[in-house]
Amino acid sequence: MLTNPLTKNIGEPGIVTTLERYLENGGYRGWRKALHMAPDEIIQTVKDAGVRGRGGAGFNTGLKWSFVPRGKDAPPTRYLVCNADEMEPGTFKDRLLMEHDPHLLLEGMAIAAFAIGARRAYIFIRGEYHLAAARLETAIEEARGENLIGTHITGSDFQLDFHVHRSAGNYICGEETALINALEGQRAIPRAKPPFPQVSGLWGKPTVVNNVETLCNIPHLIELGVDWYKKLGRGEDGGTKIFGASGRVKNPGAWELPMGTPIREILEQHAGGMQDGLKLRAFLPGGGSTDFLGPDQLDLPMDYDAVGKAGSRMGTGTITVLDDHTCPVGLVLNLTRFFARESCGWCTPCRDGLPWAVKLLMRIECGEAQPEDLELLREQARRMGPGNTFCALAPGAAAPILSALKLFEQDFNDHITRGCCPYDQERQHIPLAV
Ligand code: SF4
Repeated sequence: MLTNPLTKNIGEPGIVTTLERYLENGGYRGWRKALHMAPDEIIQTVKDAGVRGRGGAGFNTGLKWSFVPRGKDAPPTRYLVCNADEMEPGTFKDRLLMEHDPHLLLEGMAIAAFAIGARRAYIFIRGEYHLAAARLETAIEEARGENLIGTHITGSDFQLDFHVHRSAGNYICGEETALINALEGQRAIPRAKPPFPQVSGLWGKPTVVNNVETLCNIPHLIELGVDWYKKLGRGEDGGTKIFGASGRVKNPGAWELPMGTPIREILEQHAGGMQDGLKLRAFLPGGGSTDFLGPDQLDLPMDYDAVGKAGSRMGTGTITVLDDHTCPVGLVLNLTRFFARESCGWCTPCRDGLPWAVKLLMRIECGEAQPEDLELLREQARRMGPGNTFCALAPGAAAPILSALKLFEQDFNDHITRGCCPYDQERQHIPLAV
């Protein structure tokens, strides 16, 4: 049984899968099969398999597709957009797929476009991903040359073309409606919902926005079926997932593993455990906008519901590890600075609250804070929480702050009582992470 559908073509680092090699390995079989299926049948297959969005939200992909209006009164123009604006701190899974196996993404997009009736598909890619963008452009040319995209695809009356759009660079473009604004050439700020993009998105037309990894799940699902897909997962959710680990582990990287693989297995077997002399103190399970979890949660299966019940989010599934020789306040300051810089400035708790949180964290980290600053920071982070801002950037930024204040309260207090960062003296004795 095929157990690594996302990475089966990925070999040596730096080697890209050409169309020739992709076809040799069974590539575009899912696309050829999809062209003989009814669009509703494809959507139902994706729904039945329970494919959940791999960008972080975990929404049912088939259900999302099914919201696109259908029937004779539906708008004839629809769009598919691939969200390749991978900017979540600590996340590098989509880059791996696009740089090494660009045809897998194109095939997934072709099937998705056919299912929703889109004849134009955009790949909105992070500006810094030069290599991935260039490889996708080459792959599009190759696919066009073989009539796998374009007009009268493989003899059918379906036509589809692709366009790679390089982002000017802003984290908020990862939010689907801000991405749509950016694609239209407008200021990248989120739109009010409803209407949802599936009904009124790009240029007011029905639009589906899906993450790279989500779309890469589609070709083999269509080719091999729902039962095969469901059996790949170890728990409730089917399929595989590219999990990753960064921080001071022995072997940082990304691996395709069954959905529901325990966190301990990812960190100890695949990432090789902590570097010598270091202990695991906590981890962010799925990027910089998730809550810290402690070592007591290592046996959690990595799936959306289990990590959610434990008080965090699986997010992108790429784990950032905090060791016992790294200052948690410094780490949170680093993350909060990033989010403050990336705020689109549309709503007050985020635009003004994040720079204020940065100032408070800097005061604490430098040993210049007063005891009451901790409550001020907590209150400030709460004001950025769910329901108080227009999009999820601010609640995401508040998550590591609030969970760090809970898990590392003693560290925060030590900075204040000692008047310096307690980790400063220790740092000189610790080897830097490779
Ligand atoms: Fe913009 Fe932040 Fe408000 Fe989101 S939460 S709309 S990023 S200001």
